[in-house]
Amino acid sequence: MVRVALKALEIYKMLPKKNCKECGYPTCLTFAMKLAAGKADADTCPYLDAGTKELLRGATRPPMQLVKLGVGERQVSVGDEIVLFRHEKAFYHPPGLFFSVSDLWDRERIVAAATRVMDEEFLRVGENLRFNGLAIRNESRDPAAFGRAVAAVEEEAEFPEVLVSESPEALAAGLARCGNYHPVIHAATRANHEELAALAKRYGCPLVIRAGDLGELAGLAKACGDLGARNLILDPAPANLGEFIVRSTAIRRKAIDRSEPDLGHPVYLDATAFVPEEAAIVVGILKYAGVIVTSVLPPATARMALTLRQNIYTDPQKPIQMTPGLYRVGEPGPDSPVLATVNFSLTYFTLLGYLEASRIPCHLLILDTEGFSVLTAVAAGKFSERLVKDSLDRYQVAGQVRHRTLIIPGYAAPLSGRIEEVTGWKVLVGPRDAADIGEFLEKEWVAKGHSGS
Ligand code: SF4
Repeated sequence: MVRVALKALEIYKMLPKKNCKECGYPTCLTFAMKLAAGKADADTCPYLDAGTKELLRGATRPPMQLVKLGVGERQVSVGDEIVLFRHEKAFYHPPGLFFSVSDLWDRERIVAAATRVMDEEFLRVGENLRFNGLAIRNESRDPAAFGRAVAAVEEEAEFPEVLVSESPEALAAGLARCGNYHPVIHAATRANHEELAALAKRYGCPLVIRAGDLGELAGLAKACGDLGARNLILDPAPANLGEFIVRSTAIRRKAIDRSEPDLGHPVYLDATAFVPEEAAIVVGILKYAGVIVTSVLPPATARMALTLRQNIYTDPQKPIQMTPGLYRVGEPGPDSPVLATVNFSLTYFTLLGYLEASRIPCHLLILDTEGFSVLTAVAAGKFSERLVKDSLDRYQVAGQVRHRTLIIPGYAAPLSGRIEEVTGWKVLVGPRDAADIGEFLEKEWVAKGHSGS
């Protein structure tokens, strides 16, 4: 905030005329504040000369470019990150994950990989997780074979692609099939960057620049930008994972402190080049990669990557929360148990898994404990008898069941008396560990004559 205010003052001083309101803002200072926060365009003020505008654009543009991969529903946005460490704020744009296929493979094998990207997903903490697309490698070195491989993917799938070749002819053959869908082009080097920048410009595609030296990488990025390739990604060409960490961290650092604006782009990692590949995937997710290419992973490894990506790209200052309310597990009836718990997502989904496994239908009352877990919510006074009473009333739980018994989590046991007093419901203290809920319900609910449905 202080940084934005100081920048705003600097901008304010650059304005030759004051408070004419031609920009539509009430005062020059308002305009300067908006510009400093990246929420206004320097062009809006007609009194800034071209040189100052350019200076301001450089100072107010985000430190790292946002790059969109592909088009349509499955488009992925990467980059636009503003911190080096997740705890400083958050990482916002999870890396795109791409299975890698080769144009040496037969059509069936390529289609099988495409089908997995299209269809394979798994639900975790309320989010459907899946891979984002395919990277197609031109290992044949034959433009026609590359074109056929791209066409095979195109016929089966609608997701972002990466076209991997250093040959402008092969890339042109691939782009003739899918250029309108803005695939990523990999990779421009010192030798071919002019032709590849021209292709990227023509099709509006993101272009990956590849060089092991960061100075050369920045120079090539500038050259490709000047040639009209507007969306850039940087491949620091690491020979090992140590090099990747060093280079990727330096790129992020220089982008964020704006010491090298031409490195202000997302980073690319080909995890297939390293052994073990799983380590490279983990390092890529943790250390700033915006695009990660993997082999066609076994489902369990793919889940590992998706789970890690989800964890790293959640806001560490904001617990993932469920919407409070009354949820049905199975097909509960008027004699089914009612369980209350917190709205911390991990608690909800863990408990839900065990409840579903128990096959005892129930009503699950989710309390608004601001995303805290049971133990923390009880200790912080967020889980209280008053909250339970208000939630029972708000979600009209009494109208759903014939009985007046509420099961609360084991860690909320100290509240059981007060909850009974305030709500008039009988309280049963459930287990501390969600894994024991099935056995608890069998013993305390079903075996004691309740129907469970
Ligand atoms: Fe100030 Fe420029 Fe807006 Fe006029 S147009 S009020 S000089 S910012």
